[in-house]
Amino acid sequence: MYRIGIGHDTHRLAEGRPLVLGGVRVESERGAEGHSDADALAHALTDAVLGAMCEGDIGQHFPDHDPRWKDADSLQLLARVMWLASERGYRVVNADATVMIERPRLRPYVEEMRGRLAEVLGVGVDCVSVKAKSGEGLDAVGEWRAVTVQAVVLLVRV
Ligand code: MG
Repeated sequence: MYRIGIGHDTHRLAEGRPLVLGGVRVESERGAEGHSDADALAHALTDAVLGAMCEGDIGQHFPDHDPRWKDADSLQLLARVMWLASERGYRVVNADATVMIERPRLRPYVEEMRGRLAEVLGVGVDCVSVKAKSGEGLDAVGEWRAVTVQAVVLLVRV
């Protein structure tokens, strides 16, 4: 049986914060604000996996008022959700994500992101897609005030 899930996440950008996407530290004058490491790519994928299982959302599983998740490595949150998925007999078929950020250009980091995510999702790197878009100078992404990620994950019960 196949199950599909969608995930979405947005974080404000601010100076003096690290920018972590897909577990990879990206060189940037502005980073993402948040309780954890604010890895919007990992968060969107985590929500997509939870969505595919009808298991609620990341905020229910890892509340942002819980000190355990302060500055948490979000790949560890994704790994916990993958453990839940495997308990239920699911494995990932493929994942696709679009990261929307005005700058910097993410192309030099994409292969490393795919590798880190593939490892946590338990699939080959050829099953994880990460795409990058700018906001064309429009809206909060375009004004370099936010990073937004959309993600889709397909699970199969084996
Ligand atoms: Mg988030």
